[in-house]
Amino acid sequence: MLNIVLFGPPGAGKGTQADRLVAKYGLLHVSTGEVMRNEIRRGTALGRQAEKQMEGGGLVSDELVLDIIADYLKQHGDAKGTIFDGFPRTTRQAEEFDRMLCDMGETVTVMISLEVGDEELVARLLNRGKDSGRADDLDESVIRNRIAVYKKQTEIVKEFYARQGKLEVIDGVGGIDAIFDRICRVIDKLEK
Ligand code: AMP
Repeated sequence: MLNIVLFGPPGAGKGTQADRLVAKYGLLHVSTGEVMRNEIRRGTALGRQAEKQMEGGGLVSDELVLDIIADYLKQHGDAKGTIFDGFPRTTRQAEEFDRMLCDMGETVTVMISLEVGDEELVARLLNRGKDSGRADDLDESVIRNRIAVYKKQTEIVKEFYARQGKLEVIDGVGGIDAIFDRICRVIDKLEK
């Protein structure tokens, strides 16, 4: 199984690139943020729990997110491969994720980290907010908080995978096609 962690700050282009990777490699795609936005729309208990933290741009609790991933793995454990988008976002999530995969005889194949500078991220997210319908893309202070949360709590997860020799850093600035090619080169190398 190809288990790809697509990593990077908010606005790095993870969702855009994930859609293309799904089409090219026939992988599944799970975005913890998207799962929670769906739950919020449906008004479920999980959605109500996640909503407050998501509004301000903070992280939702590890437990909640780990439950979502455990559920995903239970349902899709036989997939050819999955792109994990926006997960793991804390070292604890990464450790628990390793344990869950290990129990299935699986492992993370690679972390692909898209690197983009802060001001470019803010500009991209404000632009996305014009038609994404996402409340957290509309307010510049929430956007800046999400970037700060990434730096404080999430960026360190790269070290977790670097220690395992699984980190691939990609320049996330440029045309969508050019960035996609950079990612594909990493994946094609894995498949050989
Ligand atoms: P995203 O769609 O990945 O930008 O995530 C949107 C929001 O959902 C984030 O700002 C967090 O509040 C929450 N979220 C998504 N994934 C996670 C995660 N793995 N851990 C904690 N919070 C998350």
